[in-house]
Amino acid sequence: MKIAVIKEAAGETRCAAIPETVKKFAALGATVAVEKGAGDAASIADSDFEEAGADTGSRTQVLEGAGIILCVNGPDPASLSGAAPGALLVGGLDPMRQRDRIEAYSAAGLDALAMEWMPRITRAQSMDILSSQSNLAGYKAVIDGAAAYGRAFPMMMTAAGTVSPAKVFVMGVGVAGLQAIATARRLGAQVSATDVRSATKDQIKSLGAKPIFVEDVAGIEGEGAGGYATEMSPEYQKAQAELVSGHIAKQDIVITTALIPGRPAPRLINDAQVASMRAGSVIVDLAADAGGNVEGTVSGETVRKHGIAIIGASNLARSLAADSSALFARNLYNFLSAFWDKEQAEPVLPDEDEIVKAIRLSHGGKIVSERLTAA
Ligand code: NAD
Repeated sequence: MKIAVIKEAAGETRCAAIPETVKKFAALGATVAVEKGAGDAASIADSDFEEAGADTGSRTQVLEGAGIILCVNGPDPASLSGAAPGALLVGGLDPMRQRDRIEAYSAAGLDALAMEWMPRITRAQSMDILSSQSNLAGYKAVIDGAAAYGRAFPMMMTAAGTVSPAKVFVMGVGVAGLQAIATARRLGAQVSATDVRSATKDQIKSLGAKPIFVEDVAGIEGEGAGGYATEMSPEYQKAQAELVSGHIAKQDIVITTALIPGRPAPRLINDAQVASMRAGSVIVDLAADAGGNVEGTVSGETVRKHGIAIIGASNLARSLAADSSALFARNLYNFLSAFWDKEQAEPVLPDEDEIVKAIRLSHGGKIVSERLTAA
């Protein structure tokens, strides 16, 4: 089995393999061919891949005879023209927004496997690219927020007087939010956090932060399928807005991470609430790519309003390319190795397997994903 690792398009810094996963695939009996320059932006030289046992070459060379193609983002279908029908294309394929590409992969006979649709079950935790990348994004959001903040995070008692600790408020306590809380605490901030899922209350407390929750309004549970949040009732939204108004004016840094799958991000902070914050405060909106949790957020830009910097954080994992590549590459390896059949020396993906059903978009020249055929 030959595995091809392709170089990502401009703007992407991550790589779908690292020398460690090259060695692990070799131990399964596969050979790995990495497109030249694929690891450059993640500080992995071609020679690092070669030392790990990979071949390196042009796109055409690495695709030739490959049964598996690894990518971070789904490539332009035209750039895969040499790929063999039946090959697996494994990566973050963004199926809802890249429907045309998925159709083209299918027409080319590729088995497109969208890793972001990995089900949230215990068996698949180590294969979950959304979690691994969100974790790093949650960390980086705090670092970026701290860099833009004109004051210090920890309390400092100095001969010239005391510096008070920063107050950090995290809205949305999923994978990114939990890491943001932990990071802000490590930097010495006073941290509070909120979510619509009541299960997060204990998680917030266990990280040494203060939970800020809407009480006495029906629908606080807010937990939908697969551990994700659902949209809240108007009554709940009103109560949440009042609670946030009271709290936010006293905060220095706000990190928002709230997402609802398949929907625009919920609006959590309006312009009047931004204006109520102290000048010099910073908001980092991790939901910027999904429309933003904050009024006025612009994805990929820092907007200044009422003396507040609103950072429209876009794909922060890309700014930690070495770590995010390592976690992403291991997610791909963990998935493929879990389905590896030693005798056939290739992964075998049973139609009825829960993971296969969730992530397989195309097979045998047809779109097979129910989420896509129903859309
Ligand atoms: P997410 O990125 O979809 O959303 C981020 C957070 O925003 C969530 O906690 C959500 O409840 C919250 N949110 C949504 N609307 C909100 C609102 N109006 N106000 C405040 N908060 C709001 O979530 P995620 O990081 O993907 O994680 C969701 C859950 O799934 C977590 O409990 C996580 O532990 C779990 N999970 C399980 C697995 C697995 O078992 N394999 C993998 C990953 C995550």
